[in-house]
Amino acid sequence: MTAAAPSTVALDGRFARELAEMAIPWRAEEAPDPRLLVLNEPLAAELGLDPGYLRDADGVRLLVGNLVPSGATPVAQAYTGHQFGWLAPRLGDGRALLLGEITDTDGQLRDFHLKGSGRTPFARGGDGFAAVGPMLREYVVSEAMHALGIPTTRSLAVVATGRPVVRDTMLPGAVLTRVASSHLRVGSFQYARATGDLNLLRRLADHAIARHYPGAADAEQPYLALFQAVVAAQASLLARWMLVGFVHGVMNTDNMTVSGETIDYGPCAFLDAFDPATVYSSIDETGRYSYRNQPVMAEWNLTRLAESLLPLLHEEQAQAVAQAQESLGAFRRQYSSAWSAGMAAKLGLPAGFDDGVASPLVDEVLTLLQAGGADYTSFFRSLSAAARGNTEPARSLLPDPSAFDAWSARWSALGPDADVMDRVNPAYIPRNHLVEEALAAATGGDLGPLERLLDAVTRPFELRPGLGRYAAAAPGDFGAYRTFCGT
Ligand code: AMP
Ligand code: MG
Repeated sequence: MTAAAPSTVALDGRFARELAEMAIPWRAEEAPDPRLLVLNEPLAAELGLDPGYLRDADGVRLLVGNLVPSGATPVAQAYTGHQFGWLAPRLGDGRALLLGEITDTDGQLRDFHLKGSGRTPFARGGDGFAAVGPMLREYVVSEAMHALGIPTTRSLAVVATGRPVVRDTMLPGAVLTRVASSHLRVGSFQYARATGDLNLLRRLADHAIARHYPGAADAEQPYLALFQAVVAAQASLLARWMLVGFVHGVMNTDNMTVSGETIDYGPCAFLDAFDPATVYSSIDETGRYSYRNQPVMAEWNLTRLAESLLPLLHEEQAQAVAQAQESLGAFRRQYSSAWSAGMAAKLGLPAGFDDGVASPLVDEVLTLLQAGGADYTSFFRSLSAAARGNTEPARSLLPDPSAFDAWSARWSALGPDADVMDRVNPAYIPRNHLVEEALAAATGGDLGPLERLLDAVTRPFELRPGLGRYAAAAPGDFGAYRTFCGT
């Protein structure tokens, strides 16, 4: 394959053009000694980019924003954010840039975006940079989410910049190249609404419809249809997070997309032991974004989106509010039905299985899990063996197997389908102790553990020999896990 010349990496500037009031043209900081740490070759292929070129000196400069293809307009995007419930009117990309949009091999427009590329006018007190560890963390977790079938922004590459960044200690700096179906956030709409410029708000909504929900353009009320589509996408997304035990950690309105993709992997983590009150983020003192609160917080964010859209829904505010409320009401129903169907599948029961039978079984097994402090992922995966007649792997995870035996007898009598279970209950997820181990090694220059972890979690459902430690629960001495954001 011949290396693509830089000019053939065609980046559009659609957001910058259509929504100039929300886009500040800006350039990435020069990386003194850029070194590619990890490249996502399958994603590069989806984007029609030659991995050979991206590994070359020019390609690496493209990945950190130092080589800007002709015609591209890198911008920092403006957005607002409710952070832990408090309004920050002017947040925006403090250390990120949208280089432009690329048309993938399916003809879809994808954002080509950098994180950690230097201070922008939105940087406030921040240095604009990112450290290798947190950028690799986003790479691993987002690619694991994608492999789990969960909508997410993607990671194309992490490049070490050669510039140390100051945190608690000096750390090697890095840029993450992120790919997303867009970076439109709930906070983007809050920002447009707060300007008072109805025309801007309408252009933003039209842009969102064109990129994500083209069908809404033909609806009787396109902007209401847009809102309803976002509600449905988020209800489905939240159910998927909950089913796989994902804790986002910082569900501020600037970290919730309109596309329904998971975005911004900061203090996120997967549940080890099943405890609905789990909070990982060191700054989430009240547990606002605990595992169990996530659906309610998504609904809270969607209410902020509804408020932002009101002027587009109806000229009379009372009517607009009534329409928004009715559409928001769908969130709980859609979330609950997606969660119930997902839980039924985790137990190997067909979709639409008599809810009067399935739902108490789900409640009881979660109570058993919580009481026993069993590892969430290991337990559900071990149930396929039970469905095939060997209950030992599941029993061994619980301190009181007799309660499990009683539950298991009732469940087995329903004829659960172990093959279905193996397709929805992952064996390999980015377990917290393994992520920490891989990031520490990578920060010290050894990428081996990261590469092995990536190999496991990007094929999460397929048990493979030699990967036992990637399927095992954290060692007892791993302790209470804490995560940090803004790093
Ligand atoms: P987050 O909580 O990561 O979604 O970030 C919230 C806001 O802080 C966004 O506007 C980010 O661009 C900004 N931010 C986070 N870290 C930095 C940094 N090191 N330098 C500048 N801005 C940052
Ligand atoms: Mg953010």
